Amino acid sequence: MIYHQMDANEAAKSLHTNTKTGLSTKMADERRKKVGRNELSEGEKQSAILLFFSQFKDFMVLVLLAATLISGLLGEYVDAVAIMVIVLINGLLGFIQESKAEKSLQALKNLSAPKVNVLRDGRWMKIDSKDAVPGDILKLSSGDRVGADMRIIVSNNLEIEESALTGESIPAQKHSDLILEENPSLGDLNNMAFMGTMVTRGNGIGIVTATGMNTAMGKIAGMIQTAETIMTPLQRRLDQLGKILITVALLLTVAVVLAGIFHGHDIYTMFLAGVSLAVAAIPEGLPAIVTIALSLGVQRMIRKNAIVRKLPAVETLGCASVICSDKTGTMTQNKMTVTHLWGGGKTWTVAGSGEFFAQDKKIEVEREKTLYQLLTFGTLCNNAEIKMSGKELNVDGDPTEGALLIAGAKAGIDKKSLLGQFLIEKEYPFDSARKMMSVIVKGPSGERFVITKGAPDVLSLKSDAILWEGKQKALSGQLMQEVQGAVKQLASMALRTIAIAYKPLRGPIPERAEDVEKNLTLIGLQGMIDPPRPEVKAAVAECKRAGIKTVMITGDHVETACAIASQLGILSNGAKETKVMDGRRLNELSVKDLETVVEDISVFARVSPEHKLKIVNALQNKGHIVAMTGDGVNDAPAIKAADIGIAMGITGTDVAKEASSLILLDDNFATIKAAIKEGRNIYENIRKFIRYLLASNVGEILVMLFAMLMSLPLPLVPIQILWVNLVTDGLPAMALGLDQPEENVMQRNPRHPKEGVFARGLGWKILSRGFLIGVVTLAAFVIVYHRNPNDLPYAQTVAFATLVMAQLIHVFDCRSEISIFSRNPFENKYLVWAVISSALLMFIVIYVPVFQPIFHTVAVEPRDWLLILGLSAVPTFLLAGTFFSRKRK
Ligand code: ATP
Repeated sequence: MIYHQMDANEAAKSLHTNTKTGLSTKMADERRKKVGRNELSEGEKQSAILLFFSQFKDFMVLVLLAATLISGLLGEYVDAVAIMVIVLINGLLGFIQESKAEKSLQALKNLSAPKVNVLRDGRWMKIDSKDAVPGDILKLSSGDRVGADMRIIVSNNLEIEESALTGESIPAQKHSDLILEENPSLGDLNNMAFMGTMVTRGNGIGIVTATGMNTAMGKIAGMIQTAETIMTPLQRRLDQLGKILITVALLLTVAVVLAGIFHGHDIYTMFLAGVSLAVAAIPEGLPAIVTIALSLGVQRMIRKNAIVRKLPAVETLGCASVICSDKTGTMTQNKMTVTHLWGGGKTWTVAGSGEFFAQDKKIEVEREKTLYQLLTFGTLCNNAEIKMSGKELNVDGDPTEGALLIAGAKAGIDKKSLLGQFLIEKEYPFDSARKMMSVIVKGPSGERFVITKGAPDVLSLKSDAILWEGKQKALSGQLMQEVQGAVKQLASMALRTIAIAYKPLRGPIPERAEDVEKNLTLIGLQGMIDPPRPEVKAAVAECKRAGIKTVMITGDHVETACAIASQLGILSNGAKETKVMDGRRLNELSVKDLETVVEDISVFARVSPEHKLKIVNALQNKGHIVAMTGDGVNDAPAIKAADIGIAMGITGTDVAKEASSLILLDDNFATIKAAIKEGRNIYENIRKFIRYLLASNVGEILVMLFAMLMSLPLPLVPIQILWVNLVTDGLPAMALGLDQPEENVMQRNPRHPKEGVFARGLGWKILSRGFLIGVVTLAAFVIVYHRNPNDLPYAQTVAFATLVMAQLIHVFDCRSEISIFSRNPFENKYLVWAVISSALLMFIVIYVPVFQPIFHTVAVEPRDWLLILGLSAVPTFLLAGTFFSRKRK
């Protein structure tokens, strides 16, 4: 159907909808049943069975399967079945881990599901975009992602960027007129908006004409479905490291096998030992556990209200050295309340509570002409609405505008009744670059006038007159100074200031805001308080201890910003001269100039969104890892350029969210700190299990290598090695991935982003502990074997038990960068249970008769447990408190 050729009424009629009330919920539900959800269908998903079998594609698993086959062919059925079972269990674990990771990714996707603003049953409401149906009336605002294909019926400077569809990156100006051209191209349909494109300016309303796969985007959906998985830098480094480790492990394995054969062991045993050793020693499971640790960390972050959109951000978070944060709503509560008004040299204060819609107040205020105009115009040039739910009063819309409405209401000025007399003919929406908003109003006697409200320093430049004692006077000299003084005074009380101006309008309504917002007459100011969030001060201090600087970036007045920054500990007393910069100064500086001072600045005030990019670039050039918050369309480039781009979950636009790597569900600065702490912890946890797994592998290889070099019998049988690899290594390593952060995790400087996997002594710890694990296992074997050389299985069982126990003790050491004694060993419940179950399983394998022939074990006498426990404690306790016991700064 050709909706672009129909006018709004025809389009509404043909889609059986009403542009004033929208669809009813019932009708919408019925339509959804008919046309389906408003979603692009996803590509084929990997089935569970395929996922299960994909676990066996791994090279080392194939080697194991080959070994099973050879054992079977040689008639060693017990070995063959045992290996088979282990391979299956391994596969099953891998399958569970991967489907868990898959599910958490899906959950993430659902969390960031887009919403649309829809008119249903005569009320505007936010619903999931997937629930929109043809005929729905949708509102579009700057920063929104268009939720469906639509015929535009109202456009206030609406501009939409359609590059996803047309490749054209310059936004198209949208209007509501007819397009009669036959077969216009998609890019020419400027009275239509298309699903998946982005509103970059203005606002508007449209009727949904197509949803889901019927949209223009749906028709090309197949082409754009890319399910790329991005590796984090650590994962990439581990991938490379894995290749080196495989080579080393294989070489050592070959050495063990050759030495064994040379010393007279039979070829089959040595083959199986070699295969088992290779499987055990190669950390092929490492990347998988890293992914799990990352995705579990991501889930923990969600619980703390931070959604990670790009996995690499988890790691980068731990390196962040500067957080550039918006003030309003992130550091403050965004609960604006007008407390002071100023006009014509007079100041009025607003009482805290006050009865709403009180008529007598109105009469009182009406006598004060300027005050009355300030409040009335603040109410008319306003998109917010006051809603009463029971006794609760809620503001729907921008809190700044809500505050103006409430200030009016306190004086008995009510928006609804004003709109009965005044008609809003056009709106020039607010944007953070202009810092103003205007409306064209038609009064009761047909006269037209402009109301503009915005940042006082901007608005006073656009005004050439001021209302002073009821008269219009030129705004210059002394009067200008009066205005500036009043602004400064309100701002130094931490108040956000809004100036209100007007002018009569003759002639046609101009299209562009610039043509309206000039030659205005200033009426006065409204100052509103927005208290800081109580938790932010402590979060700023904690970041400081963690070597992370907090920088406040705000569109507000310098004085307002400084007052709040001082309250939050961002700005110390007396530092205003050197640590604060405003937008005007930023304009003058090039990025290069900015670099020389940027590290000193703690507050950037009166900035426009494009300044943010400059700040990010300057900080990055100074070697900082920058986290930058933002919410509007114009913030997107800075969010993208930052190392960690952070978008606001509540006030953030879709455009900002899509550019970001982290979304704050509660818009709260303290959540950034929590995410950084979690990011640091995840990285440390990954280091912990790398340390644990590799030290275990080193131990396993060395015990075999030393034994073969010393011409001893095999200290461990192949199936025992496999068992250690699967059970003793796997569960505790997973539990380390869930470990709590160390106390000092936020007391050290950020990690260097290029830091290697084995940095900060990790390589040494792995080698020294691994070496000792190998030595004590061999010692246990040698001692028992020499006592009774005729009972090899007994000596092997003791060696097996020592290896397991040495690892199970060592795992507690891996929890700390400092020393095993610096942490409570029972703190990590998962680890305690993993260790208990691994130990129990070891006892079962040693003492339960049915397992003994499979694992070549025999019951160990109680007195030998003293030997086993004594030796297995050595690798951990011998070095504890000696190496690396100093605290890292
Ligand atoms: P922050 O960066 O701290 O979050 P902000 O981005 O909210 O601040 P802006 O929204 O850009 O800052 O506001 C800058 C200035 O514009 C405010 O100080 C105020 O004077 C003015 N202003 C804010 N909202 C409106 C609005 N809805 N209409 C008119 N002027 C506004």
